[in-house]
Amino acid sequence: MTLKQDYTLIGAGIMSATLGVLLKQLMPDAKIAIYERLDKVAAESSDAWNNAGTGHSAFCELNYTPEKENGQIDISKALKISEQFEISKQFWAFLVKNGLVKTKVPFINDIDHMSFVFGEGNQNFLKNRYDALKAYPMFMDMKHSEDFSEIASWLPLMMEGRNTNEKIAATRMPIGTDVNFGSITRSMIAYLASCDGVKIHLGHQVEDIDKRDDGTWEIELTDLSKDQEKTIQSNFVFIGAGGGALKLLEKSDIPEGEGYGGFPVSGQFLKCNNPDVVLRHEAKVYGKAEEGSPPMSVPHLDTRMLNGERSLLFGPYAGFSTKFLKNGSFLDLPLSLDAHNIYPMISAGIQNISLTKYLIEQVMQSPEEKFEALVKYYPEAKFEDWELITAGQRVQIIKKDKEDGGKLQFGTEIVASKDKTLAALLGASPGASTAVSIMLNLLQKCYPEEIKSPEWKAKLSEMIPCFGRSLITDGVLCKKTREYSTAVLKLEDL
Ligand SMILES: Cc1cc2nc3c(=O)[nH]c(=O)nc-3n(C[C@H](O)[C@H](O)[C@H](O)COP(=O)(O)OP(=O)(O)OC[C@H]3O[C@@H](n4cnc5c(N)ncnc54)[C@H](O)[C@@H]3O)c2cc1C
Repeated sequence: MTLKQDYTLIGAGIMSATLGVLLKQLMPDAKIAIYERLDKVAAESSDAWNNAGTGHSAFCELNYTPEKENGQIDISKALKISEQFEISKQFWAFLVKNGLVKTKVPFINDIDHMSFVFGEGNQNFLKNRYDALKAYPMFMDMKHSEDFSEIASWLPLMMEGRNTNEKIAATRMPIGTDVNFGSITRSMIAYLASCDGVKIHLGHQVEDIDKRDDGTWEIELTDLSKDQEKTIQSNFVFIGAGGGALKLLEKSDIPEGEGYGGFPVSGQFLKCNNPDVVLRHEAKVYGKAEEGSPPMSVPHLDTRMLNGERSLLFGPYAGFSTKFLKNGSFLDLPLSLDAHNIYPMISAGIQNISLTKYLIEQVMQSPEEKFEALVKYYPEAKFEDWELITAGQRVQIIKKDKEDGGKLQFGTEIVASKDKTLAALLGASPGASTAVSIMLNLLQKCYPEEIKSPEWKAKLSEMIPCFGRSLITDGVLCKKTREYSTAVLKLEDL
């Protein structure tokens, strides 16, 4: 028998969980099924140990504010990401306030976000960045310093043993956050599982997606625990399979999915195992990526709050693996190559030789060489206090390009079918922090009429009070919005 449902969400990560909750809130009668190949929810990139847990708000991430050729700082991306994170916080506050998600310990914690740079050129860059951002309400609380003792009062661990003549600079935002994206995902899925008309199927791998003559989708699955094949029928499909999304998009055969390829980049972190050191650092401190290195390799020394326990992580160290998922297969990359994407993939490869070189160098580094990168940030670090852990797998988008043949992209992209019945999310950055805005964008693409209806607008404004308004220009709204989320999410200093 072929099961029939309205909405099929593939993958139980933060993206499907967010979309599922939005759909259920907007259409309480919707029949939704989530299919996840693993026997756990949020066990790939969304799991807390597989990502850096930074609530990306562009407070500290220097790659969101590139320097233009004329020396000016381009802050457009920073403004957008900062606003998007406020949208996520409002949505999570709605869930907490209404008892829809419950966690034993907070899934989001207040941790200062700081940027830290070395050398005169970078000091100038940071000051210009600070001046440009300060003009906007979202960044008005930012502090800047080039003073050794002031920075030492912010970051004692990073300043001990450092030459006092070293040229350094830092900025500090008091309202940064660390987020356990795994915890919020599991809570959202638990809420969905309690709703009428929603079914969560773990251990179910989607194998194929085909358009039927009646306009619906036929989805072939394997129930991995029973090694049994199943077929289901669905009106709408969201491919929220993280690194597995590209393969399924290709299987759907929608013309809009042609010309996309994926380039996997793995990540490792150094984790501190000395509790005394862990307690002596309280911030997420982002540095500047080395020349020629990809944006996701920006070094950062991070306080994490995972399940009520404090940790200290440094990294990430990029690596290369042909797997598209941490629990994937080494054949993922070769099997993703197809006639439609081989040329864009080769073209992007030729244009990004420096990236390939960088990744090879990172992979070849010994643990001692990796440790040297940490010492730049924490001069008195002891090798024996740190262990290397493997994080999640990111699949960067490679896209067909008229001029260059193919381009490597570092953001995320929603690819939707022309008839709006299927959408896939490709890419990984800024990722989980902006999941709510990404899923709102999906609704905009696939439900353009419904999202304009008074019913949807009212519900969306209830969930996200600033929906449709700008936090970038409206300082009063920004302040009010932050006060609301801070109070509901209990975002107080550790
Ligand atoms: C090293 C690293 C650091 C990061 N740091 C941050 C950060 O600091 N802040 C931030 O906001 N974001 C960060 N991200 C990005 C963030 O983790 C991701 O953007 C986000 O978790 C993606 O969620 P998702 O639901 O799309 O994917 P996932 O969480 O990967 O979920 C996809 C799910 O789909 C399942 N699946 C795959 N194929 C199939 C199939 N065929 N059938 C059924 N199920 C399938 C997978 O098993 C998986 O559970 C980081 C990512 C990495 C790798």
